[in-house]
Amino acid sequence: MIAINIKSKTYPAKGRAGQHLAIADFKLAINANEFVCLVGPSGCGKTTLLNIVADLDRDYDGEIKVGQVQTQSKIGYVFQNPRLLPWRTVRENIELAIEDNPSAENMDTLLDVMQLSQFQHVYPERLSLGMSRRVAIIRAFAINPNVLLMDEPFVSLDAATARQIRTLTVKLWQQRPHTVLFVTHDLREAITLADRIVFLSSAPMQVVREIKVPIARHERDNEQVIEAFRQQLLHVQHSTT
Ligand code: ADP
Ligand code: MG
Repeated sequence: MIAINIKSKTYPAKGRAGQHLAIADFKLAINANEFVCLVGPSGCGKTTLLNIVADLDRDYDGEIKVGQVQTQSKIGYVFQNPRLLPWRTVRENIELAIEDNPSAENMDTLLDVMQLSQFQHVYPERLSLGMSRRVAIIRAFAINPNVLLMDEPFVSLDAATARQIRTLTVKLWQQRPHTVLFVTHDLREAITLADRIVFLSSAPMQVVREIKVPIARHERDNEQVIEAFRQQLLHVQHSTT
């Protein structure tokens, strides 16, 4: 479904001459409707990778193939920051994303699921961070994407809100399957969400390890099960490095 092959991605080096090699010889294949979590240290190149997959960054050497026919894939992107337009209401921000899109999801249903119906005519400055993030998630879901990119979407939310939105994200994914690439530095979150976790190294970013999460979906809200698997992963990681 998504074949990523990045030979190299460089940035101008900060504060010195030359180039910073952010990504090198990076290959990753993602199956249709798979939920993949990318876990890696801060600054390793995760956001860079999502921007390349989203076709927002073409300044790299390599190739990304999305879907069978390039033009048929719709990509939803939940950025690291919500990026709402301040002069548009919640509803207008979402409407902007689904303009001219005949297969758009029913916005009212999504507003309802995300518990934002009462706030749809409010401007972003009146929203809490958690609400803004929920709007950004609706905006990405509303276009009915085949591919959903999520860049640390639940960072800096309180634990209860994060848990609630995580559950909703999985619910929406189960209702209407699509491929998800989800960036997080939180291993518990990755175990809770992913079919497969891909561990990344710092620059130049490469895949260091991949694991399938063998926990049934209905057991994922059991924190003890998640923690036990996390311990198992950490143990393996230590004994092999
Ligand atoms: P992550 O999302 O994993 O934290 P990023 O993809 O944001 O990492 O950044 C990867 C590396 O590339 C970092 O070293 C960062 O400083 C550098 N970088 C990112 N964007 C730019 C840019 N626009 N110009 C120069 N360097 C950048
Ligand atoms: Mg980032």
